[in-house]
Amino acid sequence: MNLIARRQTKQQATTTVRVGDVIIGGSELVVVAGPCAIESYEQLLSTALEVQRLGATILRGGAYKPRTSPYSFRGKREGGLEMLGQIKALTGLPVVTEVMDARDIERIAEVADMLQIGSRNMQNYSLLTEIGKSKHPVLLKRGLAATLEEWIFAAEYIMAEGNDQVVLCERGIRTFETYTRNTVDIAAIPALKELTHLPVFLDPSHGTGRWSLVNPVALAGIAAGADGLIIEVHPQPELALSDGDQSLNFEHFAELMERVGPVAKAVGRLKE
Ligand code: PEP
Ligand code: MN
Repeated sequence: MNLIARRQTKQQATTTVRVGDVIIGGSELVVVAGPCAIESYEQLLSTALEVQRLGATILRGGAYKPRTSPYSFRGKREGGLEMLGQIKALTGLPVVTEVMDARDIERIAEVADMLQIGSRNMQNYSLLTEIGKSKHPVLLKRGLAATLEEWIFAAEYIMAEGNDQVVLCERGIRTFETYTRNTVDIAAIPALKELTHLPVFLDPSHGTGRWSLVNPVALAGIAAGADGLIIEVHPQPELALSDGDQSLNFEHFAELMERVGPVAKAVGRLKE
């Protein structure tokens, strides 16, 4: 079958996805950064200003959070969206945030420049279909036990509705290893480039679950051909309400950004 996402020839250019003024899938490597969850105005603002200063061009921040335990912090929801809108206006950074429920798409799309489909929802077919109808750029995370084929079909659900603005994001898969939260499938990056014409991102934060492993794995992703990174950053990771163990503080994010440029350049990409 001739899938819309499928790369037709080796020469076919990667589809570019436009998020605000940022082009994903072009010559420039794109870094998305911000907190796992929006916790307060001050937390989001200080993180946004710092990641912007260091070269991130899109802000991430979860308002609706899928948590393993229903008793964990599940996000500030509408309040978080409001803060995201305010800080987007203040900084000029386009923003990406997760949609968990099709009923929230309209409200979220009013603020967000890009909609994230989380790992747990990669095979939520009614959500994928509704996101496809929205025509908003989508960051489609890999399901935690999804094969590349299943993932490509998930993208196809969105694209079949006429939305070709899809970025695939490798975020690690579940294996027998327990030291890391997930196992990053670096080979998935060039494999998806071979199989599809969609841009491919790497999320080394969820991929490793440990901040000390985020930077080396992020650089490996760039070397493997990723079009961009999405990185969790928090002003005080030890106090974070979600994913503190894998969040970089400002100093560690600065170290990453110093090393991104030279690695990108070595594989023919740009990062100012
Ligand atoms: C997240 O980005 O915070 C998140 C929940 O990611 P994933 O869906 O990959 O677990
Ligand atoms: Mn997270």
